[in-house]
Amino acid sequence: MKILVATEKPFSPVAIRQIREVTEAAGYELALLENYTDTSLLLDAVSEADGLIVRSDKVTGEVIKAAKNLKIVIRAGAGYDNIDLQACTDNNVIAMNTPGQNANAVAELVFELILFKIRGGFSGKTGSELRIKTIGLHGFGNVGKYVADIARGFGMDIYAYDPFVSERIMKNNSAKQCTNIFEMYSRCQYISLHMPFNDRTRKSVGYELISRMPQNGVLVNTARKELIDEEGILKAFEERDDLSYLSDIEPDCKSVFEDKYKGRYLFTAKKMGAQTEEANINAGAAAARQIVDYFTKGVEKYRLNK
Ligand code: NAD
Repeated sequence: MKILVATEKPFSPVAIRQIREVTEAAGYELALLENYTDTSLLLDAVSEADGLIVRSDKVTGEVIKAAKNLKIVIRAGAGYDNIDLQACTDNNVIAMNTPGQNANAVAELVFELILFKIRGGFSGKTGSELRIKTIGLHGFGNVGKYVADIARGFGMDIYAYDPFVSERIMKNNSAKQCTNIFEMYSRCQYISLHMPFNDRTRKSVGYELISRMPQNGVLVNTARKELIDEEGILKAFEERDDLSYLSDIEPDCKSVFEDKYKGRYLFTAKKMGAQTEEANINAGAAAARQIVDYFTKGVEKYRLNK
């Protein structure tokens, strides 16, 4: 059995060691394709693989077709918008993700971005505090829950909107349920996005929501840039000079922020929410275990293409 780890942005060495330990203990052969810059290299490497582990790498229909022996692909991470699930299904390939394994890393980044911003980039300028401030979590899955946990430590007033999560679960995680998304944006000075990117959520955060935020509103996006309607956010920024946008990955309209909204944005140069040693180890080792569990026991717990 051949397992390929294909990562444009590699796992940390210690994560690779763990993936190797798990796969080799099961008697599988592990191959690495790291830092590849051309899809042709992936198409070539995947041709012999029975199992594939990726991070944000695009697993398109072309990749699936080139992988003649492939039975399972694991996205070591939460969001799986980089995997063509239909192509997997059409070619009898099981697709899974590793939910929750990098959630704490992303949640910590939310506060790293916020704290840097509200303390003026640690410049010595007078900043502001988080205690008793309102935060609204748009999406209350694994990351949202960790964010609530940290926000509680800061003494924040926490709200959450997630049509698929019950009020009881929110309450157990210190968040008050909002059933109306407009109400949450109107109420919360801080809004943090934690829903997946899909056809329903594409560009779903735009002018109508952002323009309702209270004075000194801060929108934090560690989910996906595609959730934002960029025309809408630019319109809101044009009308109000008190809003800020912090994002784990640059928006397409970054140059407009650079030209017009200095001091009101913070964008990581590369997506780095899950880029901690711990998250790498958790997600990488979970991916390897899920492959072994699938081949040896038929476990399909985190299957995405049912
Ligand atoms: P998750 O699947 O545990 O939680 C997502 C939550 O969003 C679920 O509770 C779901 O019910 C909710 N949701 C779905 N549609 C919604 C909608 N229309 N409105 C409100 N809520 C909705 O995922 P997670 O681990 O919490 O991660 C959330 C997202 O963060 C991922 O989908 C991924 O895109 C992104 N992410 C980014 C990084 C990074 O490196 N920056 C790392 C991990 C995850």
